[in-house]
Amino acid sequence: MNIILLGPPGAGKGTQAGFLVETRGMKQLSTGDMLRAARTSGTEMGKKVAEIMDRGELVTDEIVIGLIREQLEIGSEGGFIFDGFPRTLPQADALGALLAETEQSLDAVVELQVNDDVLVDRIVGRAKEAAAAGQPVRADDNEESLKVRLMEYYKKTSPLIGYYYAKGDLTAVDGLGTMDAVKAEIASALNA
Ligand code: AMP
Repeated sequence: MNIILLGPPGAGKGTQAGFLVETRGMKQLSTGDMLRAARTSGTEMGKKVAEIMDRGELVTDEIVIGLIREQLEIGSEGGFIFDGFPRTLPQADALGALLAETEQSLDAVVELQVNDDVLVDRIVGRAKEAAAAGQPVRADDNEESLKVRLMEYYKKTSPLIGYYYAKGDLTAVDGLGTMDAVKAEIASALNA
């Protein structure tokens, strides 16, 4: 089974993807994690995207599609969870084409619905918790970048809700509940 977790920054995509990895043996493909890894290892691509990411803007479609293509070619027995990808309509089209080329399908798109006040609180909270625990704080977890990230989401990513609805793949889940409640709602959506 291959699924997309769709939702704004702070909606809980990463957390819920982690649960699906544990319970279903799926492979999480987070383009955000891949890009951060490229920065840490200091690759040319990592250097190229650093400033864009810190500002909260989206990197080019070409870069993230390339990262996903590599992974789809490797494959995953338990299926893939796309977390933070696709984020634009061209990325969504590219994912469809790549899945078709590799004879795989998209089984569900789970939209995590949350309101904007909760997002800001969660992200600011995530930064404070990390700082208090002496852990590194994401360079884009600050209020200025967060505004840009939200705007990017509404301008470029939210049209994907209509795109997947029209394809008949969309399932909306209330992302405001506790982690366990959201986890249970996703499980029942995927088992349906
Ligand atoms: P995330 O960890 O998903 O919040 O992603 C962190 C940052 O990585 C984003 O703000 C973008 O700069 C970049 N990024 C991650 N995924 C994508 C994507 N699919 N398309 C464009 N940029 C992305």
